[in-house]
Amino acid sequence: MNDENDGFFYHPLDTIEDAEVFETAIDRKVFSRRLSHERPYTYWTLELYDQENGIRGGGGLGVLAADTRRVAEQVKVPFVLITPFYPYEAHQKWQDGQIVDEHIPVNYDSFGFSKVGDVTVKCCNNICNLEVIEKSFDYTKIVAITEPNFGELYSGLSGSDHRLYQEVCLGFGGYQALKLLGLKPAIMQLNEVATFFAALVRLDELASNGMDFYEAVVYTRKHTLYTNHTLVQAAEAEFSLEQFENFVFPNLKSKPVKKWLHDKFVDGRIKLSSVTIEIAELRSGVSKLHARVANYHDIAGERVKFKAITNGIDMKKWVLPDIMKFYHEEGILDEFDMPTPNFSDNLKALSSDLILSFKEVGRGILNKELSHRPDQNGEILNFEEGEVIFDFKRRFVDYKRPQLPFKDPARLRSILEPINAHYILAGRVHTGDSRMAKILAEILNTVNSDDYLRTHVHYIADYDEKLAFALSVGSNVAINVPIVGLEACGTSWEKDVANLNLLISTHDGGVADGSMESYLNVHGMGEDEEVLELYTRMEEAAAAWENKFDLDMMIKKQLAEFLPTISGARMLYDYLDYLLPE
Ligand SMILES: *Cc1c(COP(=O)(O)O)cnc(C)c1O
Repeated sequence: MNDENDGFFYHPLDTIEDAEVFETAIDRKVFSRRLSHERPYTYWTLELYDQENGIRGGGGLGVLAADTRRVAEQVKVPFVLITPFYPYEAHQKWQDGQIVDEHIPVNYDSFGFSKVGDVTVKCCNNICNLEVIEKSFDYTKIVAITEPNFGELYSGLSGSDHRLYQEVCLGFGGYQALKLLGLKPAIMQLNEVATFFAALVRLDELASNGMDFYEAVVYTRKHTLYTNHTLVQAAEAEFSLEQFENFVFPNLKSKPVKKWLHDKFVDGRIKLSSVTIEIAELRSGVSKLHARVANYHDIAGERVKFKAITNGIDMKKWVLPDIMKFYHEEGILDEFDMPTPNFSDNLKALSSDLILSFKEVGRGILNKELSHRPDQNGEILNFEEGEVIFDFKRRFVDYKRPQLPFKDPARLRSILEPINAHYILAGRVHTGDSRMAKILAEILNTVNSDDYLRTHVHYIADYDEKLAFALSVGSNVAINVPIVGLEACGTSWEKDVANLNLLISTHDGGVADGSMESYLNVHGMGEDEEVLELYTRMEEAAAAWENKFDLDMMIKKQLAEFLPTISGARMLYDYLDYLLPE
């Protein structure tokens, strides 16, 4: 068992009751840890999912980045997030029986960013100009770099020149952007290896400004955290020495740094994880299970250890305001959205009548969101109070298995029909993923050939934050069935649990931080068994929404088990404890 994280229940902040005491505690923590507006916590990410601020990401990695920044703002931690601003964003629609990609230009002015200045990066014998833009909040900032040909998030394959160009721009351009703003990173958190270059520039700065190379390495390592979200190193793309000669080496000043980097190539190729592991002494995985199973080796061949810091969510953003008010009034969450020491006792204030009334409010939000988003048949949906909705909402990728509930359409119908339930599918198919596009088309064919399913299973295209929120608050049962061992954490299920939905899930990612008895668990030897289990759990969930006693008990059990995991403030303090121990 990995019990590294079990201490968080005893976090000193759990016992703080009033804001004044909290502020002093925060100040003490922050100052004793030498974070300030000029020396902030810096968070580097190639992906940010923050539609309010004009930046639309691809999935969970970007949502996590946006939530981390918002939580830092709420708990007043000086924090700067550095990311690209992509001039185009990807959307999808369902048209003539297939997914159609759309590319929509976006302008940073319309989202409150202002231009700070320009920086340059050398690539392929050219000087590339990058604009630095900034949006400031009270305690946090988003600093973005951009240029008109920067492209879209994840445009180009992961080992392509364009991707390397984007990554180099973020690292080298972003570091100069901080200098323009007079900021010095106290800590650098690298959200995946694509942001390695930020730490490399810091090393280069130190080593070219008179610090001994080995001291510069030690200093950079001590202040850099690599957060891994991927399970297998083998799956990672590689770059060639030639690509680095075009994009990376021309930007380095220090000879020993160039030599250090050059020596890391094996047969003329490099994986960014191998160098990220070397430059970051601190390394974290995004759930207990993930930290335990992530299979990474350093250059010496030693297995890399990851500290488990499970992803949380910004509860203010993702939870129905009426439910948040209830959590606060009943002493379930404190004013910083941390579960109180006696939150599980206080959950007794919840009742099935309250759950149903919160769901009614959520249903209104869902209907409103769906009023401008027709399903695959062009129908505008409007759900009645009390109708049970199952949903599957997440990126359509292989391991998440959106097709699982459609393996036996007759059985699915037999579960939905008696209670007139609906099933909503929502999720992006990654551009170019023809396999998943085909699986989606097959699901919808299956659905179309059954007269009940045709009108009760709905695919809603262009999954985004708004739809994610509307479904979390407005549906009743969430289905999360990744192949066990492949989900790093997942956060949609956290939105569902916090919004009082029943969770049906395999024991994987962050869900496996809790016990199998605390939610509707799907397990089995092989997929056929899992499918049978899934249907049984769906029957139980359907029955629970008709039985007040069971519903109340099951929702409370989920919350008692998972609220501490879900709390984004808990996550941020776990990071601070790891990065800046007292
Ligand atoms: C919450 C959220 C995610 C995270 O999805 P997981 O599959 O649970 O990691 C992805 N996309 C959007 C739009 C979200 O709101």
